Amino acid sequence: MPAFLITGGAGFIGSHLAEALLGLGHRVLILDDLSTGSVHNIAGFRRHPRLEFVPESVLATRALAEMADAADIIFHLAASVGVLNIVHSPVATIENNVAGTEAVLRAASHKKKKVILASTSEVYGKSNHAPFREDGDLVFGATTKARWSYAASKVIDEFLALAYWRERKVPTVIVRLFNTIGPRQTGRYGMVVPRFLCQALSGRNLTVYGTGRQTRCFTYVSDVVEWLLRLAGSDQAVGEIFNLGNPEEVTIEDLARRVIAITGAAVGIDYVPYDQAYETGFEDMERRVPDISKVASLTGYRPQVPLDEALRRTRDWLVAERIAEGTEEFRYGQGQSRAC
Ligand code: UDP
Repeated sequence: MPAFLITGGAGFIGSHLAEALLGLGHRVLILDDLSTGSVHNIAGFRRHPRLEFVPESVLATRALAEMADAADIIFHLAASVGVLNIVHSPVATIENNVAGTEAVLRAASHKKKKVILASTSEVYGKSNHAPFREDGDLVFGATTKARWSYAASKVIDEFLALAYWRERKVPTVIVRLFNTIGPRQTGRYGMVVPRFLCQALSGRNLTVYGTGRQTRCFTYVSDVVEWLLRLAGSDQAVGEIFNLGNPEEVTIEDLARRVIAITGAAVGIDYVPYDQAYETGFEDMERRVPDISKVASLTGYRPQVPLDEALRRTRDWLVAERIAEGTEEFRYGQGQSRAC
């Protein structure tokens, strides 16, 4: 029975991946320090006989070494995520992302275990060559803008993973995730979809940053999981980089309108300047669209869940969470509600 190690397996994407692997009959090892993940995410299968959960950081050398040795394939999803986190805790972001990936690759290298590294569409930075191709140039702003440290840290991770493959024959695959959304994602670290849904469901105006004309491509988590499973099983994926995203492009302003329509909330939109939302001089990306021809042709898979359906499923989950928590209404911020 193959065993899979998921670092960050108690996080949003990691927990869905763990659940899918258990459903396929595999063994799953989760290493997660619960910094941004939560035991609540894995509560539904926490006691599964084929699951082992170790609540430690990827920097816990011994736990990592043992779990890497026990696994056949490693998904490295543990990272500092969320623009708010990055702007407010730049030291932790850089250190976690670079040292964490270094530790995972080193642990994998002993027995040449395959590593699937989660990178991000953020690495395309300010490039205006959308839709982005994996071999396109990456364009960052000045190092004085904290936001870019996340992209830069992930670029180092990508270079490292490719170097481990070329020089040490550790089979690595890199995936660049484009704004994954779905149940279990929290808005606490800035992610726009859970924030908008929480705001609408609690009867508050939605906070659109900047003009709202910037675009994103939101990808439902089950589509990302399906791609990850297919790439894990492909020898041709080794040494390669893949965009994982749903090319359906939407402006943030339109996203806000769709959230209002889907929730039926009697709320409006507040436009908040970037300086106020993040930090002075904050730079956003105007367009972020993936070219997915590479992953589609290798895996034969294209996204199945359109944005409105993804929003409806996430809304239903948030409503169920509220009922489970027994809260009369959503309370946003300060971690008062698990979901928001
Ligand atoms: N955003 C927004 N309101 C919010 C949170 C985010 O308008 O309450 C915007 C943000 O400025 C960005 C987009 O939504 O343009 C996506 O933000 P997110 O942090 O989810 O992901 P990013 O793509 O920036 O990493």
